[in-house]
Amino acid sequence: MAIHGGAGTILKANMTDEKEMLYKNSLREALEEGWELIQQGKSATDAVVKAVEILENNPLFNAGKGSVFTNSGKHEMDASVMEGKYLNAGAVSSVSNIKNPVLLAKVIMDNSDFVYLSGKGAQEFADKHKLVFEKDEYFFDQFRYDQYSNALKNDKTMLDHTVIDESENDGDKEKKFGTVGAVALDKDGNLAAATSTGGLTNKKYGRVGDSPLIGSGTYANNKTCAVSCTGEGEYFIRAVCAYDVSALMEYGKLSLEDACEEIVNRKLVSLKGEGGLIAIDKNCNIAMPFNSKGMYRAFIKSGQKPEISIYRD
Ligand code: ASP
Repeated sequence: MAIHGGAGTILKANMTDEKEMLYKNSLREALEEGWELIQQGKSATDAVVKAVEILENNPLFNAGKGSVFTNSGKHEMDASVMEGKYLNAGAVSSVSNIKNPVLLAKVIMDNSDFVYLSGKGAQEFADKHKLVFEKDEYFFDQFRYDQYSNALKNDKTMLDHTVIDESENDGDKEKKFGTVGAVALDKDGNLAAATSTGGLTNKKYGRVGDSPLIGSGTYANNKTCAVSCTGEGEYFIRAVCAYDVSALMEYGKLSLEDACEEIVNRKLVSLKGEGGLIAIDKNCNIAMPFNSKGMYRAFIKSGQKPEISIYRD
């Protein structure tokens, strides 16, 4: 099983030991809770949804509680889940006040004839299925609010985890991707992937990124792999990243590692798209490539200890 907490210009120079520990412990907790379900013989879907739910409840990450502010000072969240056995999927975009958008994506997958619901309709569906709603204050975070004020001031749309290098980025201070995601393979050989995000700081016009788009930000197919992406959504949409990793494996017969390398370090790079992904294949190979400075990430395999990393080593 593998998880991510977003990619971006995450530099050791900008991190305190305390903050680094906080991120690592949060990743460990989410990974271990998801992994525990796999150990108990539960499904890969249950495991990825659990890990993402935990990350959504953690204000360090740009999803659920920690979601970034939109241009109008609100939170609009996107999430998706897919399982590889029957290619079942559920997705949701532009929802506000839903505590755990990933749970809504799963309820859509399990209890509707649809794959993808958005905005008001999705919220009605959530209400009908008794999902937990939270007031605006629950999603307020001073750090995110400062990011948002800075983005407003500079009229920038920003990704969550990237510290904007003044020399590289027109004077902005922060630009990060903080989306969260998980992929897993269970004891029955089933694969699943889930992704959740608050999107871009200062986003407007109902902007939706790759995270809720099956095939772009999330994909799972038992014949090949499960993938969850993080980065500049517009590029991940144009490159159809998650599905393309699977397609390279299915039709091109590439290994998981080679397929991921092709997408993250060639296709995306040629489009100038920044970010990364986590992927696991049906043989339990794991790949976590990124072309940004860092990516919050962790994985675990049977009989091994969790491995948690942030930077490019
Ligand atoms: N991919 C997400 C989006 O574009 C952002 C992220 O990964 O943080 O909405």
